[in-house]
Amino acid sequence: MIILLGKYLWLAGIIASVVMSEVITVAMDLLLKGEVTYDYLATGMVAALLVSGIMVAGIMKMVDLERSRQEEIAKNLTLRASERRYRTLIEVASDAILVTDTETGTLVDCNRQAEILLDMPRNSILGRHLSNLYDTPQDARSHEADFISRMLDGESGTIELQLKRADGSLVPVEVSGSAFEIDGRHYVHGAFRDITQRREAEDRIKHLAHHDPLTSLPNRIFLHGRLEEAVKFAHRDQKQVAVMFIDLDNFKRINDTLGHRIGDALLEQVARRLTENVHGNHVVGRLGGDEFIIVMEGEDIGTVAAATAELLLENLCRPYRVEDYQLHSCASIGIAVFPTHGRSAEALMKHADAAMYHAKSRGRNTYQLFSHAINAGVRERVEIENGLRESLKHGGFKLLYQPQIDMATGAICSVEALLRWHHPALGQITPDRFIPVAEETKLILPLGLWVLDQACLQLRTWRDGGIDGLRMAVNVSVMQLQDETFCDALDAIVKRHGLSGSDLELEITESALMENLGQVQALLKSLRDYGITLSIDDFGTGYSSLGRLKLLPIQCLKIDRSFVKDIETDEGDAKICDGIIALGHSLGLKIVAEGVETVAQKNFLQEAGCDAIQGYLIAKPLPAKEIAGLITHSDKLR
Ligand code: C2E
Ligand code: CA
Ligand code: CA
Repeated sequence: MIILLGKYLWLAGIIASVVMSEVITVAMDLLLKGEVTYDYLATGMVAALLVSGIMVAGIMKMVDLERSRQEEIAKNLTLRASERRYRTLIEVASDAILVTDTETGTLVDCNRQAEILLDMPRNSILGRHLSNLYDTPQDARSHEADFISRMLDGESGTIELQLKRADGSLVPVEVSGSAFEIDGRHYVHGAFRDITQRREAEDRIKHLAHHDPLTSLPNRIFLHGRLEEAVKFAHRDQKQVAVMFIDLDNFKRINDTLGHRIGDALLEQVARRLTENVHGNHVVGRLGGDEFIIVMEGEDIGTVAAATAELLLENLCRPYRVEDYQLHSCASIGIAVFPTHGRSAEALMKHADAAMYHAKSRGRNTYQLFSHAINAGVRERVEIENGLRESLKHGGFKLLYQPQIDMATGAICSVEALLRWHHPALGQITPDRFIPVAEETKLILPLGLWVLDQACLQLRTWRDGGIDGLRMAVNVSVMQLQDETFCDALDAIVKRHGLSGSDLELEITESALMENLGQVQALLKSLRDYGITLSIDDFGTGYSSLGRLKLLPIQCLKIDRSFVKDIETDEGDAKICDGIIALGHSLGLKIVAEGVETVAQKNFLQEAGCDAIQGYLIAKPLPAKEIAGLITHSDKLR
């Protein structure tokens, strides 16, 4: 640069010297010729000097301008080269790049990938406000402001957004960005990566985690989350939420007898019926097994839920066609409503479940709204369960015995062992209250064996005391008959007390037996072969068909107390008793009437041909030692 400058100065000097020497030569010539005076010459010289000075300055200025021009060209060339490098870099990038002016929020640059991603030409992208590309501008502005300010703070990082394409469709992107400054203006360079495929994979995984593979309905995890969310909003907006628990009444039997394939197909049809009848923003899900749940939101949702429950019961009760089978499976429904029945998702689930159990215990195919009385019932259930466990370990049960007399002889032919329990905290509790809990908790298995053992021990004691010809009747729950170890355990007890199968009668409630017939039929046959007398208890309440009765290896029917009660006044009941006796006899069965309280009832039954009776008329359930006295005087009972 200095050399260049020096070169031009030297040139300017030569030019100035040449001009000056020419001026001096011409001036000297004119002076010698006397054509000019010294004064003129001096003035001319000064003028010449000025002119050459100006010339030098002009030349210098031109040199300067030229130098700047050269510098500018060089600079432009460098800039263009760097711009080309920049363009190449952003154009080869696999991500869509959008450069935003942070002051205006407008887009000032983009690459080809951005045009492809947004399906927009470059000229439509540039000048647009960045937030125009977002799915929800309101959210986007705050996202964007946050993102830009983080970038300006020198942070780097990524966020995930949805961009809106030219046709309005949305594309999920992951954005990584960085901020930079040019000439005092700030920009953010954002690289937008299309994450549609990743999102799809994530969604697939999420769907699997949140849905039941069999019915495709939302599962427990999803429903619980959904309910928690609904409760949160309901708290805030003072709204109601209802939770409905639906449990199929007959499913277990169908699944056990016809197999899982049929059971699964039935569940799929149930799921379809549920979704077909539940609309709006209510969500139907499957909790597992034959349990379904519906989360409902909206105005006066308790009433809506009750109406929906009625509709569902009607629809679920219609027969199902699975392969060649026509299946029947009604449902029991429990409903709990926020905030009346619970203020958290957990409480609502628990209470809807309790209400559902209550509906089941009320006779199935019905729905029940939760109430605090139910809750008290649930608490009592827990107390009973804990008490049962404790009494099984430490004692608290005893047996009473109620005699049965033979109508022909008037002698006591057998006694029925009836369980009594003193609950550690609740005091004396009737079997009707604790036997169902023992069944639900399977505690009936050890408890039932205890009863058998005690009853056999008592019979042995009477035998040893000289009382013969008496059979011991023991009530057994169907659950005991379903237990594979039952036969062996029974055999061990019978042998331990030196008895035989023919010393025992087992009473099985009609309704429970008919519901589980498939699973226990073979076992009944083995018990029969073992010499045990099998009785159907509470007969008349369980809708046995004659055809099915014929197939059963039973010897005795016990007419339910409810028919005996009004036998003298209610013509219908009298006819039922007559009918049962005639039907039983036609099948070669012995008929026992229970709950006989009056002489008139006894006479009626005797006339109708009933074989034996049991009831307060003869004796209430009594402690063992009182039975002994009764038996010795049994001829007085006639
Ligand atoms: P169940 O087998 O039908 O027993 C007859 C019930 O009627 C007994 O009630 C008995 O006390 C009552 N009873 C008998 N005669 C009369 C009468 O003349 N009038 C009236 N009003 N009632 C009479 P309890 O002892 O309360 O037993 C209720 C039920 O609990 C039994 O009904 C039976 O199903 C069940 N249960 C009792 N003990 C056992 C047991 O050891 N195992 C099982 N699995 N169930 C049992
Ligand atoms: Ca009984
Ligand atoms: Ca009975």
